Amino acid sequence: MSYMGNPFYNVFNSQKSNQFAVAKASYKKRINKLNALKNAIENTYKDAIREAIYADFKKPYAETDLTEIYPVIGDIKFAKQHLKSWMKRQKVETPLALLGSSSWYIYEPKGVCLIISPWNFPLNLTFGPLVSAIAAGNTVIIKPSEMTPHISKVMKAIISELFSENEVALIEGDVKASQALLELPFNHIFFTGSPQVGKIVMKAASNHLASVTLELGGKSPAIIDDTINLKRAVKRLVWGKFVNNGQTCIAPDYVFIKASLKDVFIAEIRKQLQKFYSTNAETSDSYSRIVNKKHFNRLVSYLQDAKSHSATIEIGGQTNQDDCYIAPTVVSNLPEDSLLMQEEIFGPILPIKVYENIDEVITYINTKEKPLALYIYSKHKRTIDKVISNTRAGTSCINNNVVQYSNHNLPFGGSNNSGIGKSHGYFGFQEFSNMRSVMKQHTKGSVEFLFPPYTTLKQKIVDITLKWF
Ligand code: NAD
Repeated sequence: MSYMGNPFYNVFNSQKSNQFAVAKASYKKRINKLNALKNAIENTYKDAIREAIYADFKKPYAETDLTEIYPVIGDIKFAKQHLKSWMKRQKVETPLALLGSSSWYIYEPKGVCLIISPWNFPLNLTFGPLVSAIAAGNTVIIKPSEMTPHISKVMKAIISELFSENEVALIEGDVKASQALLELPFNHIFFTGSPQVGKIVMKAASNHLASVTLELGGKSPAIIDDTINLKRAVKRLVWGKFVNNGQTCIAPDYVFIKASLKDVFIAEIRKQLQKFYSTNAETSDSYSRIVNKKHFNRLVSYLQDAKSHSATIEIGGQTNQDDCYIAPTVVSNLPEDSLLMQEEIFGPILPIKVYENIDEVITYINTKEKPLALYIYSKHKRTIDKVISNTRAGTSCINNNVVQYSNHNLPFGGSNNSGIGKSHGYFGFQEFSNMRSVMKQHTKGSVEFLFPPYTTLKQKIVDITLKWF
């Protein structure tokens, strides 16, 4: 198949030619690259990163430091600590039947990789996978989201300064650029975005049987029972829901609360919102904005739909289109067919559902697609165990939310509709590697006794082998 007309063929081809040189880079060389990236992010470009993300959706600097810069620096530090052992050949036992040989496997780079990233944590979700790809010895083409152009420019400057195009290249562009890239025969595609586009990516990957990591989204539930310290649970829930203006893949999308606690729960949320963002979040320096008018209008349409279904706006509901502002909003009495209960919200609107017993919650969750995250707040071990073992989700956190993302020892990713494959730390390194198995024959192998012709004696040995080995 000819790719000559593809606008990105040249850069792809240059990486393909260079992939073995990059793959052979020693542990030290890989660490040097990670150090250079770390230095660029936390020193040379730190202010530019903060300013760019503020220009893209008014994200407060402290939030950028915490949720964009810190996770990538953490990824790099973790990789630096462990890369030597990850890169080592992994010896495994050899069974007696294969006497005279030894076995191991190595993590070899996948080759030429594509990273397509979303806009909601534009630096974190672009450079996080890049750290794993570099650690594993790959060449990479990156396509960040067109919706956050300011930070894409800064990331482009960083990549151009640190890498030649035949090792890591960043392509700014919209869906068309993404589509053109997806035509090329990459060895691995790491995509973060919506399940709808995830399906497009997987279809394109199947043309070349490229392996994929799909970090997708969905509706992540939180459950709060009546054994918990409600004030503390609400503080954590409100942070997890409204940080980044609710535009977080693992934010609690909606919450189940014991019916008897509904009123006091809403009162606590109101108090907590005032503490975080004052009585008018529009004037708060700690509250970001919706990324653009398209997503603003999408969310406003969900609110209008809720009102037309006679739902109750318990808190918030105010909007300002000029500034893509939507107040922190809490909605109850939503019918199941409302958009807020059907679509991933990805914004600062929290639907509340009341429940009487935990079984109905479990049944409800299991009628939906497997969520990316599921949160349970309870002091009751039996309830926690019951929820975890009777539901399915990519990731869970007990008595908190979102923070599980920052533990590099944990695999991160969804399941089926919310994702395929895992990222972070060792799991990210694995994702960008092929586990190549190697067996070495040292002496005359035991199986050779069984080569044809199959005599009666050999048949007896086969019988013994089947029985005992
Ligand atoms: P999106 O799927 O619209 O876009 C993601 C990327 O895909 C962008 O770079 C975009 O240019 C590209 N793209 C869009 N349409 C395409 C098409 N038809 N063909 C090829 N490429 C295309 O997602 P988004 O709006 O940027 O991000 C929000 C979604 O991402 C939410 O569903 C959220 O839950 C999910 N998300 C998941 C994670 C995770 O780690 N699991 C993290 C962040 C966001």
